[in-house]
Amino acid sequence: MKVMKFGGTSVGSVNSILSVKRIVESADEPVIVVVSALGGITDKLINTSKMAAVGDSAYEGEFREIVYRHVEMIKEVIPAGEKQTSLQRQIGELLNELKDIFQGIYLIKDLSPKTSDTIVSYGERLSSIIVAELIEGAEWFDSRTFIKTEKKHNKHTLDAELTHKLVKEAFGALPKVALVPGFISSDKMSGDVTNLGRGGSDYTAAIIAAALDANSLEIWTDVDGFMTADPRVISTAYTIAELTYVEATELCNFGAKVVYPPTIYPVCHKNIPIIIKNTFNPDGVGTIIKQEVSNPHCKAIKGISSINDTSLITVQGLGMVGVIGVNYRIFKALAKNGISVFLVSQASSENSTSIGVRNADADLACEVLNEEFAKEIEMGEISPILAERNLATVAIVGENMKHTPGIAGKLFGTLGRNGINVIACAQGASETNISFVVDSKSLRKSLNVIHDSFFLSEYQVLNLFICGIGTVGGSLVEQIRCQQQKLMMENGLKLHVVGIIDAAKAMFSREGFDLANFREELQEKGKDSSLQTIRDEIVGMNIFNSVFVDCTASPDIASLYKDLLEHNISVVAANKIAASSAYENYRDLKTIARQRGVKYLFETNVGAGLPIINTINDLIHSGDKILKIEAVLSGTLNYIFNKISADIPFSRTIKMAQEERYSEPDPRIDLSGKDVIRKLVILAREAGYRIEQEDVEKNLFVPNDFFEGSLDDFWKRVPSLDADFEARRQVLEKENKHWRFVAKLENGKASVGLQEVGANHPFYGLEGSNNIILLTTERYKEYPMMIQGYGAGAGVTAAGVFADIMSIANV
Ligand code: ADP
Ligand code: ASP
Ligand code: MG
Repeated sequence: MKVMKFGGTSVGSVNSILSVKRIVESADEPVIVVVSALGGITDKLINTSKMAAVGDSAYEGEFREIVYRHVEMIKEVIPAGEKQTSLQRQIGELLNELKDIFQGIYLIKDLSPKTSDTIVSYGERLSSIIVAELIEGAEWFDSRTFIKTEKKHNKHTLDAELTHKLVKEAFGALPKVALVPGFISSDKMSGDVTNLGRGGSDYTAAIIAAALDANSLEIWTDVDGFMTADPRVISTAYTIAELTYVEATELCNFGAKVVYPPTIYPVCHKNIPIIIKNTFNPDGVGTIIKQEVSNPHCKAIKGISSINDTSLITVQGLGMVGVIGVNYRIFKALAKNGISVFLVSQASSENSTSIGVRNADADLACEVLNEEFAKEIEMGEISPILAERNLATVAIVGENMKHTPGIAGKLFGTLGRNGINVIACAQGASETNISFVVDSKSLRKSLNVIHDSFFLSEYQVLNLFICGIGTVGGSLVEQIRCQQQKLMMENGLKLHVVGIIDAAKAMFSREGFDLANFREELQEKGKDSSLQTIRDEIVGMNIFNSVFVDCTASPDIASLYKDLLEHNISVVAANKIAASSAYENYRDLKTIARQRGVKYLFETNVGAGLPIINTINDLIHSGDKILKIEAVLSGTLNYIFNKISADIPFSRTIKMAQEERYSEPDPRIDLSGKDVIRKLVILAREAGYRIEQEDVEKNLFVPNDFFEGSLDDFWKRVPSLDADFEARRQVLEKENKHWRFVAKLENGKASVGLQEVGANHPFYGLEGSNNIILLTTERYKEYPMMIQGYGAGAGVTAAGVFADIMSIANV
């Protein structure tokens, strides 16, 4: 025989209850069916009684809903006729009793624990009668007659021995289907109705299975089995095929609601497998919980669970060091008052012991501990004991963690990099569970980061905020869209764009955006994109593994980096403003990133997608020294000096560069050398030189006063330079030389200026808008290292930004 337990949701609706009927009737061995109250009814019974107890007449409405649920259910599932009428009468009698009890409470405004226990028992009594009538040949048994409790520490606890004996007697002869209300029991002395605690129907089923040596215990619920995490919190949680009793116990004890914790022990003791199945998907494989799993080499971590209801109480003081019996007194005082402790952490210096308890127990725990240690507190040996509230406890569980080095390191490293502070932690010597306490606000992020990034998910997730969707940003989004699938399949990397921001609007979503029509969505749903909104939304989202990608040229956006890095958000910038700003600011950003364990990357600040900054970094990290940098770093200027000819005057080339989108929207930024100066400053800094923009010597080719006034004035005046340029160009042509705007760093001195290069110079043949860089280093001295290629263009720049993003994912 086997025991099958159906939870509240399995008997909550017409469809589900009919599914229960099919599942039970197709069993090919005798079954004992244990049912919960109709879904939500236990909560409703408790609420209604509380309302009545404070004299709130609206309790009647609540009660009517309880009546309605049952009456309607019967109408829907039992065919009209004598059977239905007699069942409605039976249910009606129970509901009338209940009505009288509520009325009594309302009148005397008092609700004793005993009455409360009586009230909640109606949930299972009603549901079990309905299901017994529905299932062919089912015989109803009253669990109050064989599940017996006794009072210990003011709580009803099972009298296992007596119950065991009574269950055996009750089921001496087994019908094909026995139907039992779960959860409810009675006191072994008084016979008063009691219960096994919220979620206790699972326990009822386990007790019966163990007493009768069942072949299996099946727990039918509303999910596909025991999952790697609560699917309501972690959307990527998946079903675990097999768990050991130890693993299941650890997970349930820490909040995996799918099985009520005391359920496991009785069946584990008898080596009866527990099978978790989905009433709504009976063909699914579900989860089997047994002594040993068949694949001993499975992942080290099986699952994660959490309790978002934690207070931490710390007993501390120098007077505790080396004193024997302090812990004994702590636990004795708590036990005497029925306070359950689920986490203990003591430093080896012995000057503090931290204890995790439920929020509801925190006040009483502090009170009894302050009383216990009153003398020591008065003497100053121990500090007054206080509770730290609104915390959450997370546990990662797996028997294969045993003897696997590096799990704790990886766990805490991951949390740290995501800015999650661990307040206390504990790992038992059994090594099957590592638990830690964090602020409640960090719970969701902690669960996500552990689940999706490191231990359980098949994918590593990177959450991206893309700021700026102009030519570079737009191109980047398109590249991400095209690569998403491939990266997921081949690299196990899931790129999630969770924020899209342009100058006018911003939108954010934890679930990520569909990149096919993000522009329309931004127009429709975006909110105003003020700097404050952007900052608050991103920081407030507090999402794990996140990267802010700046594809703007905005100083305001660049001013956000510091705050973002401080919140453990990596920054990838195509924007050059921050890296070329005051040296102190540049250094601060790099330092914060390093301290926080996140990245600040800006490869595309120089030479678009060319690997220039990374190369300099690699050289320096391996002990080389950059002696000299010579480079053509402006695609725009190179384009201009390559285009200028007898037919195309200087002023026209500038216009063409703008039309081709090589130049900055305001081409004066290129012509004034500002853009090249910024790039040179960034390279020099990365090469180890402390340098500011003002330190760069400028030899310009457009007079300074052309940069004053408006852009319109500039366009009007610039043709006046054409004649002079043409004259100089003709000389140059005769000498077979080319103009190049060269940035140079030599002996720590930086300069930019127009240079005439002859045919044997490496810069002579630089085509179009290309960039070139020569690095003379201690190792590359005689023949400098040369990097050359497209130095501008949305596609290559976006690809460079993409490469920075990928290096953060580190796949
Ligand atoms: P029932 O009414 O069938 O007893 P419960 O609500 O008590 O159902 O338990 C099932 C619920 O437990 C699921 O709907 C799910 O949200 C929650 N849950 C929490 N942690 C887990 C987990 N690790 N695996 C599966 N379900 C979980
Ligand atoms: N109906 C009870 C509850 O909601 C017992 C159970 O469902 O297991 O807690
Ligand atoms: Mg349950």
